[in-house]
Amino acid sequence: TGVTMGVTESDALRTLHRVFGYEAFRGEQEAVVDHVVAGGDAVVLMPTGGGKSLCYQIPALVRPGTGIVISPLIALMQDQVDALRALGVRAGFINSTQDFDERRVMEAAFLAGELDVLYLAPERLRLDSTLDLLARGKISVFAIDEAHCVAQWGHDFRPDYLALSVLGERWPDVPRIALTATATNATHQEITQRLGMPDAKHFVANFDRPNIQYRIVSKSDPKKQLLSFLKEEHAGDVGIVYCLSRNSTEKTAEFLCRNGIEAVPYHAGLDAGTRARHQARFLREDGLVVVATIAFGMGIDKPDVRFVAHLDLPKSVEGYYQETGRAGRDGLPSTAWMAYGLQDVVQQRKLIQGGEGDEAFRRRAGAHLDAMLALCETADCRRTRLLTYFGQEPQKAACGNCDTCLTPPETWDGTVAAQKLLSTVVRLKRERGQKFGAGQIIDILLGRKTAKVIQFDHDQLSVFGIGEELSEAEWRGVVRQLLAQGLLEVEGEYGTLVLTEQSASVLGREREVRLRKEAPKPASRSSKGER
Ligand code: ADP
Ligand code: ZN
Repeated sequence: TGVTMGVTESDALRTLHRVFGYEAFRGEQEAVVDHVVAGGDAVVLMPTGGGKSLCYQIPALVRPGTGIVISPLIALMQDQVDALRALGVRAGFINSTQDFDERRVMEAAFLAGELDVLYLAPERLRLDSTLDLLARGKISVFAIDEAHCVAQWGHDFRPDYLALSVLGERWPDVPRIALTATATNATHQEITQRLGMPDAKHFVANFDRPNIQYRIVSKSDPKKQLLSFLKEEHAGDVGIVYCLSRNSTEKTAEFLCRNGIEAVPYHAGLDAGTRARHQARFLREDGLVVVATIAFGMGIDKPDVRFVAHLDLPKSVEGYYQETGRAGRDGLPSTAWMAYGLQDVVQQRKLIQGGEGDEAFRRRAGAHLDAMLALCETADCRRTRLLTYFGQEPQKAACGNCDTCLTPPETWDGTVAAQKLLSTVVRLKRERGQKFGAGQIIDILLGRKTAKVIQFDHDQLSVFGIGEELSEAEWRGVVRQLLAQGLLEVEGEYGTLVLTEQSASVLGREREVRLRKEAPKPASRSSKGER
């Protein structure tokens, strides 16, 4: 048995060292593990990447019997099981991707007590056959992952989760641990109530990462903006740059190399050897920049990442938080920097509307994007926004370590500008069958006689040239902010701008629109303008 400073190492700590190879528990992990190992129920709120898995994996290993992990992420089960097996943990899963024989092998292993951890999809718990199977084996702990799926009004509601209250009724002596990364207070209470865990102890991690400075700039020439950010503030530092497409990761890495910054691309399209090489370099070297799609970073634990930069808008605040959270694990000052523009919004709306998935899926994706936009366009403290999004009460109203705190954006009365823009949208809507995006609308407002303006006689409209007091970049800012405030919407494959129910209150002069001023543009602008 291990002995540290004269104190006998606990089973939990020994498992952490020997099986997982980690030095110490992080944050709330130890308290959670101790509580569950001792047989108590727990509700755990921890940010993504915070280390929730160990909170149930260690009790599963320390307590006698098999730990049953209920997870809706069927696609990840194989990976999770592979990762555990690589550590010597006897892990398996049962889900709908398996054929009858594969399932029977797993069931037999469970009954024979040969599994430490068994992953199950929630829908299986609705089957009597599964409950009977569980009743015939020995269970150490029930872990309910993504527990917010039980919340009926949440983004990820799954009816199958409602049936999980049966676990407490049938196995009152087996501890349960419910885990989630997203929980407003209301969701938190719903989890406790619907899963029937009134006596559970609650562990709420602090979501704040005070050493990370959050900054979001408006996109004009993203690669150049990135380069000056790196040269001015992070020369020689390790960092990650996130792009949406594989192609742009490669182009950006090349661009950085040409400009004297060591950078390599990383995405799922590279062959396994190249990926492994780039990842190994990133972990080993001091000043390497990895330009990656979100495929990079999962499970990577490098403490001294000094910056995370986004050249494209993440799909959700959860994603943004998770990706930026890879910076500054060592607690030293780090930067989360993002360049974001109107084109990001249009592109992502198109992806959502043209993509797979049913109506409910699209609605959720749209809501996630809206929350992300609101974070980008806020004139208030970004950290406060982030923490409030995750249902946490910030310590102070303004953090002093984000761009909006450091240089408070000026706001202006954009009511008239909004009216001009919305009226132009209304005019164009009357032209049946024609769809116009932000570009055309801004050209009209600025009184530009482009080929497309002439083709559709838009220079004849009463709104032609009524917006010359603002620059193109400022108009783009107005569009973005109206989108973020729900006063405008993007639709269809051409990124057509359309009114919302709330637009009428602006057009009817019943409502004032406050907008934030665009930060001054750098002197030289690329000819293409905003990408
Ligand atoms: P979550 O499920 O909360 O998103 P994970 O359980 O996947 O987070 O953990 C995120 C990362 O942190 C993983 O790479 C994991 O190996 C690592 N990790 C978790 N706990 C520790 C620890 N105590 N020490 C070092 N690394 C840890
Ligand atoms: Zn702030």
